[in-house]
Amino acid sequence: MTDKSESLFNTFAASGAVSKLVLLETFGNAGMLRSDPRLVRLFKALDGMPEQIDFDQFQILQNCSPALFEKVLNGQMAVPQFADFCHELERIFSETADNVDGKLADYIPQLARVNPEKFAMSVCTIDGQQYSIGDSSDFFCVQSCSKPITYLLALEENGENEVHNYVGTEPSGKTFNELTLNSKGRPHNPMINAGAIMSGSLIKRGQTSSDRFDYVMSKWRELAGQMKVGFDNAVYLSERQTGDRNFALAYFMREKKAFPADVELLDVLDFYFQCCSIEVTSQAMSVMAATLANGGTCPITGVKVFRSDYVKNCLSLMSSCGLYDFSGEFAFRVGIPGKSGVSGAIFLVVPNLMGIAIWSPRLDELGNSVRGVDFCKRLAARYKLHAFDSMVGLRDDRLDPRRNLYQSRYGGVVAFCAAAKEGDLVEMRGLIARGLDPNTKDYQERTALHVAARYKRLAVVQYLVEMGVDVNAIDSWGHTPLDDASAAGDSAIVSLLREHGASSSPAERIKTE
Ligand code: GLN
Repeated sequence: MTDKSESLFNTFAASGAVSKLVLLETFGNAGMLRSDPRLVRLFKALDGMPEQIDFDQFQILQNCSPALFEKVLNGQMAVPQFADFCHELERIFSETADNVDGKLADYIPQLARVNPEKFAMSVCTIDGQQYSIGDSSDFFCVQSCSKPITYLLALEENGENEVHNYVGTEPSGKTFNELTLNSKGRPHNPMINAGAIMSGSLIKRGQTSSDRFDYVMSKWRELAGQMKVGFDNAVYLSERQTGDRNFALAYFMREKKAFPADVELLDVLDFYFQCCSIEVTSQAMSVMAATLANGGTCPITGVKVFRSDYVKNCLSLMSSCGLYDFSGEFAFRVGIPGKSGVSGAIFLVVPNLMGIAIWSPRLDELGNSVRGVDFCKRLAARYKLHAFDSMVGLRDDRLDPRRNLYQSRYGGVVAFCAAAKEGDLVEMRGLIARGLDPNTKDYQERTALHVAARYKRLAVVQYLVEMGVDVNAIDSWGHTPLDDASAAGDSAIVSLLREHGASSSPAERIKTE
C-alpha cells in the first residue's frame, strides 16, 4: 500500500506536495460528484486540508476510499476521458435541442400541461461517473419506463420459467396498448401494457397493496442509489380515471384465464397505474440505468438489486420491444437496449459501460420522445455503442468512450519515450496518471530514463529518479541510463544518476577501465 501510494503521490507531486486544486480537478474531470456516497468522507477531509497536500495527508485521503481513489487518479475509470465525453454529449444535446417536432401526450391533463420545452440528459457509468445537462433536477413520471423494473421484480421473485408461463418474449408488432394477446392468450411481452399488468400481478401476491407499493418504491430507490424517488398522485388518479383500455386489457386477460390464481384484478390495475406514476429526475434515472448496465449492482452504493441473469433477460426484451413500434428500427440504428415512456423519458443501458437517461416531453406518433430518439441517433453516429459495433473494426472513425488512447501498452511507451526526448513533463505525468508504468521498455528495451539521459533532459531524469524508476535498467545493447548520460557528455545528469545509485553497464566499465 505504501509503495503504491508513494508512486501515486509522486505522479501528482510537484516539489514534494500535491495541489488540492489539482486533486479536485482530477475528481471533477472523472465525473465524481460531491454527493457520491463513496466520496463524502474524502471530500470532507479534503475540504479541511491546505492547498499543498503532503504525503501523510495524501494517505489520509486515500484511506477514505482506497480503491476508488486509486482508480480515479490512475485514470482507470469505465470512461477514461470522461471530460471529453461529456463535452461531446453537451454538443449533441444542444444540436438536439433545436428539434421542436412532436406533441405532448394529452390523454391525461397532467401530461398535457407539462412545459414542452423541458429537456434533460444524464449519464452514469458503471464506475459511478456522472454528468447531467439541462433540466436534470426536474421530476417527471416514468410511465412505461417502469415496465422493465416491474418485469425484473417479477423475475426476482418467481424466476424466469414461472414468469414466462404468464407473459411472452416476442414483439407484438402492435401499439403498446393494443387489445391483443398472443396465440396462447398471453401478453406478447413485458414491455407493453398487457405484459406489464401481468408482471405486476406476480409481485408480492400475498401482501397488501400498501406493502407492495412500499416494496416497489424501496427497490426504485435502491436502483437509483438512494436518490429521491417520488410519486405523482395526480398522474395516478388521472391514469386510473382514464384507464379504460388498461381495464379492458385486464378483463380480456382474465377472460382468457391468463392471470395466476387468486389475483385481485382491481388491485393489479391500481398497482400498474402506481408504477406509471413514480417520478424521478433524469439523474436518478441514469443511475438506475447504470445499475442495470452494471449487471444489477448499483455503481454508487454497491448494493446488489437484481441478479445479473435477470438483467440479461430484461435487456434482451428492451432491445426487441423497448421503444414501442420503433423498437426494430431503434435496435438497427442505435443498437442499445432502451425503454421509453409517454412522459417523454427514455433510458438506455450500455452493458458494462453506462446508463443514459433523456427526458423531453414532445412525442412522435408512436409515443416516443422526439428529442430522445433524435439524441440517441446522434449519439450512435458519434460513438461506438451499438451492440454489434465490434464488427466494424477500423472501417469506422466513430469514437469509443471505453478506449483510453494512452492505454495500449505499446502506444503508451512510444508516447512516453517521445515525451522524455522532448522534455515534455506534462505529457509524461498525464501518461502515468492514465496507468502507464514509468519502467515500461520499448522494443529495444530502452526506458524513458535512457532516452532522457541520452537527450540531456535533466528535469525529466530528475522526475523519473525521484519517482523511483529502475536506474540500472539495461537495454538490448546492454547499456544503462548512465552509459547514455556519459555518451551524451552531460555531467549534471551523470552525477544525479550516480547519487541515485546508478552504475555503468559491465561492458562500459571494461571500456573505461
Ligand atoms: N400510463 C400509460 C398507459 O398505460 C403508460 C403507457 C406508456 O408510457 N406507453 O397507457
